[in-house]
Amino acid sequence: METAAIRVGVYARISDDPENDELGVQRQLKHLRELVTARGGAIAREYVDNDVSAFKGRHRPQYEALMQAVTAGELTHIATWQTSRLWRRRSERGAGIERLATARVSVLVARGPDLDMTTAYGRGMAGLVGEFDTMESEVKSERIQAKVVELADAGRIANGGPRPFGFRRIYFGEGPRRKIVRDELDEVEAEIVRQCAAKVLRGESLRSIVGDLNGRGVKTSTGGLWTMQGLKFMLRSGRIAGLREHRRKVVGPAVWPAIVTVDEHEQLRALLDSNVRPVGSRVRCHYLTGFMFCSDCVARNVRMRVGTHHDKLKYICPPKAEGGCNGRVIGVADVEGLVKKYMVGRLNDPRSLRMLAEREATEDVETRSLLDAIEVDERRLVTLQATLTDGDEDEAPEAVAAVRRVRARLKGNRASLSRLRPISALDDDESLPELGARWDDLHIDRKQSLMRLFVQQVVIGPGRRGLGRFDPDRVDIVPVRRR
Ligand SMILES: [Zn+2]
Repeated sequence: METAAIRVGVYARISDDPENDELGVQRQLKHLRELVTARGGAIAREYVDNDVSAFKGRHRPQYEALMQAVTAGELTHIATWQTSRLWRRRSERGAGIERLATARVSVLVARGPDLDMTTAYGRGMAGLVGEFDTMESEVKSERIQAKVVELADAGRIANGGPRPFGFRRIYFGEGPRRKIVRDELDEVEAEIVRQCAAKVLRGESLRSIVGDLNGRGVKTSTGGLWTMQGLKFMLRSGRIAGLREHRRKVVGPAVWPAIVTVDEHEQLRALLDSNVRPVGSRVRCHYLTGFMFCSDCVARNVRMRVGTHHDKLKYICPPKAEGGCNGRVIGVADVEGLVKKYMVGRLNDPRSLRMLAEREATEDVETRSLLDAIEVDERRLVTLQATLTDGDEDEAPEAVAAVRRVRARLKGNRASLSRLRPISALDDDESLPELGARWDDLHIDRKQSLMRLFVQQVVIGPGRRGLGRFDPDRVDIVPVRRR
């Protein structure tokens, strides 16, 4: 037997358990290759299962392939990081050991004792080691379970604290020691929450919504005025979607009814967390701000801004120090008039609705996949935080790097999501031509959301010398690209 070649199947697995090392697979493989070389073996094949937890018993195609190779007599050994990478559940391990024992395939283990499957003693040890793994895994899951209960308890309706807007609070008893029995929907307030959510989702700013609430005399649950912070807190909360939260993270379904759907909640949260202002939201009085570029500076993404020039309001390319050329000027009223004509034309064009509907369909798919990606990354962050707090010391730097990577990706995805949202400017009772008809009366947010549906940018060319009037040929309205 000594002369027989040692043919090793290397098995590595990434798990999404809290103790996981998603990052560690490359390192696992590196160690395992060294281990195989040190034992004088040769690697027959590497098997890597990605992002699955054996404890939950999910399908592991590479593990299956490995076991087939074992049965087919292609391997003399398996090399793995820990036996827990191979098996977690008792039933799975029992069957696995049986197959290895029959095929006389032993296991080289990087962290822990090797399993010699050629002797009765070795097979017995394999069972014991595995039993220990299972115990460890179960202890871990008990700990997580306890944590969940603790979190959920913390998220239950606490006595005291202000009544959440949108809900009627039912008490038992009187005075300061009264107990909260439950929260019921307050239909009037819930409708207001729904409206605010819809407005945010179609791109209206928190500022204008707060202005509208306070203007209509709608009071907060404590009878005060609405603030942007308060409104954001409410719209961002899982509570309005019937979700329980702990430290502003959703921990599960709640005992109270929902006002918005979970889908809407996810979109609201991603949007409100994105910190990406929609185009042109910084200077709010002129709706073309953010769309305006001079033809010389558009490639550098430098926007024209509103200022006065010979006592008239103009869009002006910023000074050289700020990346612009400072040489391009055009009258605000002139461009706005032209763009209005364009927009009314598009809104009245019967093909527009079809074009938007088609785009919405594509963007729906993109929105869904962005939301999915965001959700996965948020979960990944929680996992990584756990690795940081009670993981291996030597895993910490990689976890920190991974956290940074995941955060960057989240930021990007949230930004993309907020760019996709404006399409929902459509879901309203008004038809496009109706919106066109009262263009002048539309709120600036509404104008900008509609603009974003049709217009990519407005590019201003150089003026002709000596022409004493507004020259519409200087204005190039660039439509939104078709996807
Ligand atoms: Zn310029």
